[in-house]
Amino acid sequence: MKSPSHTDDATSLLKLKGVGPKVAEKLQRLDIYNQIDLLFHLPLRYQDRTHIHPMGSLKVASEVQVVGEVQLTEIKYARRRMLLSRIADGTGFLTLRFFHFSNAQKDLLKRGARLLCYGEVRRGKAGLEMTHPEFRILRKDETPVLDDRLSPVYPTTEGVHQLTLRNIMAQVLEHLQNDRLHLQSLVPSDIRKKYHWPSLKQALLYIHYPPLEAKLDELENGEHISQQSLVVEELLAHHLSLRQLRLSMQQEQAMPLLPTGKLSDRFLAQLPFTLTAAQQKVLDDIEQDMQQDNPMQRLVQGDVGSGKTVVAALAMLQAIEAGFQAVIMAPTELLAEQHYRNFKNWLEPLGLKLSWLSGKLKTAQRREALQQISSGEGQVIVGTHALFQQEVSYHRLGLVVIDEQHRFGVHQRLALREKGQQGNFYPHQLIMTATPIPRTLAMTAYADLDCSVIDELPPGRIPVETVVIPDSKRSAVVQRVEHAVQQGRQIYWVCTLIEESEALQAQTAEETASALAEALQDVRVALVHGRLKPEQKENVMQAFKNGDIDLLVATTVIEVGVDVPNASLMIIENAERLGLSQLHQLRGRVGRGSNESACVLMYQGTLSDTARQRLAVMRETSDGFEIARKDLEIRGPGEVLGTRQTGLMQMRIADLQRDQHLLPLVSEIASHVYQNYPENIEPLIQRWIGSATRYVSV
Ligand code: ADP
Ligand code: MG
Repeated sequence: MKSPSHTDDATSLLKLKGVGPKVAEKLQRLDIYNQIDLLFHLPLRYQDRTHIHPMGSLKVASEVQVVGEVQLTEIKYARRRMLLSRIADGTGFLTLRFFHFSNAQKDLLKRGARLLCYGEVRRGKAGLEMTHPEFRILRKDETPVLDDRLSPVYPTTEGVHQLTLRNIMAQVLEHLQNDRLHLQSLVPSDIRKKYHWPSLKQALLYIHYPPLEAKLDELENGEHISQQSLVVEELLAHHLSLRQLRLSMQQEQAMPLLPTGKLSDRFLAQLPFTLTAAQQKVLDDIEQDMQQDNPMQRLVQGDVGSGKTVVAALAMLQAIEAGFQAVIMAPTELLAEQHYRNFKNWLEPLGLKLSWLSGKLKTAQRREALQQISSGEGQVIVGTHALFQQEVSYHRLGLVVIDEQHRFGVHQRLALREKGQQGNFYPHQLIMTATPIPRTLAMTAYADLDCSVIDELPPGRIPVETVVIPDSKRSAVVQRVEHAVQQGRQIYWVCTLIEESEALQAQTAEETASALAEALQDVRVALVHGRLKPEQKENVMQAFKNGDIDLLVATTVIEVGVDVPNASLMIIENAERLGLSQLHQLRGRVGRGSNESACVLMYQGTLSDTARQRLAVMRETSDGFEIARKDLEIRGPGEVLGTRQTGLMQMRIADLQRDQHLLPLVSEIASHVYQNYPENIEPLIQRWIGSATRYVSV
């Protein structure tokens, strides 16, 4: 939040006509706190009321202004009661359709009345029509006054009408025009000259009030040079803010953690496999980082199944060898439980003490866990979000590992880091993700982190054969399950629902499980979902891992991280409703052992174009990077990275997908600003990110 003192200065919103405390408060919902913020509240699109369109030449889906005379107005009862009014202008006619109307409105539209009308043209049963157009009755000989420029359409919020907003904007833009509001261009002028970018004032005036000859589609696609120059400024602000964050972290102190090999050598010796070259390379990066006296901030990207857990374990051992605690946080109970079990098997034989902390612990267990953590008795700590909550205090935390980072926000990551702070010392951080993103995007989205990639899967993996099947062939799928069980295979059956409700998901999974148990008498069926108690979940997963269950019916709780190598067939219901990265994560649960594996994507009804595209991608490739690239094409980065990811994705006009090509230029300009105009950095961040920068100092 910006400080209230903003309301006192010359740029206060209250200085504008039509803005009282109430409107000012509502504008805050649009992130508008002062007049400058208003200037950066840019139009979504434009309306052209600069001329009258003859009805004979209207195009469907265009928004136009027409003048016409009412020929007939009547109330109709179709599925709903509605008012239909037919108007004509000599070149053609148009039907106006109103679902909400008063008698007074009906009377206005009497035969012979002349209207000025603005709206979107649609195709109706009896020719072209407009639904709920804006209209005004013209006096007998009135010639309507036409606008001399395009009208901007702004994003609005409840209680602030479009016309109110336009009115307020007009005042601010006039101040800008007359230089009563002064806005410094913060992109250095040599750069602006080089690329022929207009000044900030010119750019803003153009975007709010484009001239008549402006190309509307260029503007609406954000491609005009005025917009692009602002996009660059905005991306620059974000880039600089992440660089600042990184710099300030680099100036922080951390304890150097020297590896002795005492624990890690024994750990490696007991592993049933050797590390891949990619794992080893990433581990070398980590080992180096952790020996520095400033905190590691490393992101490890590695496809599903690339073996990130072992890498995390080795990093944790390095911290423990140096006499510190290490903590690993996972986004779901199920995944955290699995890590706990794995780490117990791996690390207890080395004589290490593990602690477990989740939100679902009973009071006594919880107290014990907290005590172990604060006394330092717990050396390896595993858990969920509960790990950074208030009552938790660490004894000597050397390393924080965050698994499946895309499920956490930047705030949570920083909060856990704050937790481990001792005096001026911060713990090292290792962040792991299975959502790989292309390099240019990573440079911006993760500009505050160093990145390593595990770009190789453990040997012997056979790609998962993927088929797409309509729900109508369900019985064939059930037969396939039976056949697989006869061959000693284990199977996941994933029930998905779009509803967020865990209760509904659980219910569907329960019903599916009993139907399958009914149909498959000789198959051992079990069920796991988010509503089970932790012990119940753990028991089921353990039984499945031990091979005591053949078919595990599950909700998407098994999406991240679950590792049962003997499972080699997965059925996903309603696959058409899931995003690519989620499908990839789910499918990553099979193909982990040496058996040939398969994944059946079932869908209901007819597929939409995007759904068809998505399922085709799944069938054709198993490469996580390739899938991420396609996902980005289909959905755009905001969705892929999650808006919670960083303040970064909530941009005002930049669109990381559309504007990707500008990123290398932005990073170049950022260096230039650093060297030659460091005084511009803070104002840039303040202007574009303002209140959102609070994460920098969480
Ligand atoms: P993810 O990167 O998806 O978290 P995991 O860490 O769960 O992957 O590892 C997937 C599986 O691969 C596990 O069963 C793990 O024991 C196994 N694994 C990890 N590294 C290797 C390796 N170098 N060789 C063979 N198997 C490995
Ligand atoms: Mg994992």
